[in-house]
Amino acid sequence: WLAVAGTARTVLLAAPRSFCAGVERAIEVVEQALAQRGSPVYVRKQIVHNTHVVADLESRGAVFVDELDAVPEGATVVFSAHGVSPRVHQEAAERSLRVIDATCPLVTKVHTEARRYASRGDTVVLIGHAGHEEVEGTLGEAPERTVLVETPEDVAALEVADPERVSYLTQTTLATDETAAVVDALRARFPALRGPASDDICYATTNRQDALKSIAEESDLVLVVGSDNSSNSVRLVELAERCGTPARLIDDTGDIRPEWLAGARTVGLTAGASAPPGLVEAVITALGGLGPVTVHEREITRETIHFTLPSVVRPS
Ligand code: SF4
Repeated sequence: WLAVAGTARTVLLAAPRSFCAGVERAIEVVEQALAQRGSPVYVRKQIVHNTHVVADLESRGAVFVDELDAVPEGATVVFSAHGVSPRVHQEAAERSLRVIDATCPLVTKVHTEARRYASRGDTVVLIGHAGHEEVEGTLGEAPERTVLVETPEDVAALEVADPERVSYLTQTTLATDETAAVVDALRARFPALRGPASDDICYATTNRQDALKSIAEESDLVLVVGSDNSSNSVRLVELAERCGTPARLIDDTGDIRPEWLAGARTVGLTAGASAPPGLVEAVITALGGLGPVTVHEREITRETIHFTLPSVVRPS
């Protein structure tokens, strides 16, 4: 650390960054469930993809499980912000679980589209990352009619029943530029392609990428606060790298390595939609411990979106 101490640095702080409305709502759902029903409250999968959020809720009585068979019959279970397939709802009903659904309304919108497109007889092409929980939930709406693609190469290899009847959907947390390339490839192969009015990439993902784009090229290093299973956080790291700037994903200040900071006079800083704002403040404080820091915030837009809580946990 001594080698990088004493250097004056500028921190370019991207805004918007950190928590989105869907994440705030999901965390509040668990908090309200704990306050109203007491511990334990079971949560299927990580409520949002952030180790700090999960550890904090765990310390307050939430019990995170991978699948519903780990939840005792009749207990309360929260479904995470990423959404679940109808099979999971059915399993919960069969086991008489008291479900509180914290699925982000913007993910629910994609599920609704999936059902609508499939019911009109289309092949539904879902653009997303294999294995991500949100993708598994969306695929589950119409598994026999939905195919997953990640890249333009996947589009080239697609086989569909009727090229005139193809619709597309996207995961909410993809890179906007990469997704546009996949949609272009789909449209070139299937000129009758139908889909959502724009794509399904949510406002929060788009804003965090646009904000980062506005600072990445000026930065010598970009730090993205977020966990490594957070899709939108990983996309931010990749975006900074596409802008030509080295970027690192950090869960917290403990992950910062001194050699990254050598020669980095201007540090770009942002956080994924599931990363708590306090962790960003902690990074600034940590950098301040290595020499004088001047912080410039670049706010490209102000987010005012707020989602109401599910009625079962809404305080009266
Ligand atoms: Fe909802 Fe977007 Fe936040 Fe995901 S990133 S929880 S889709 S607002």
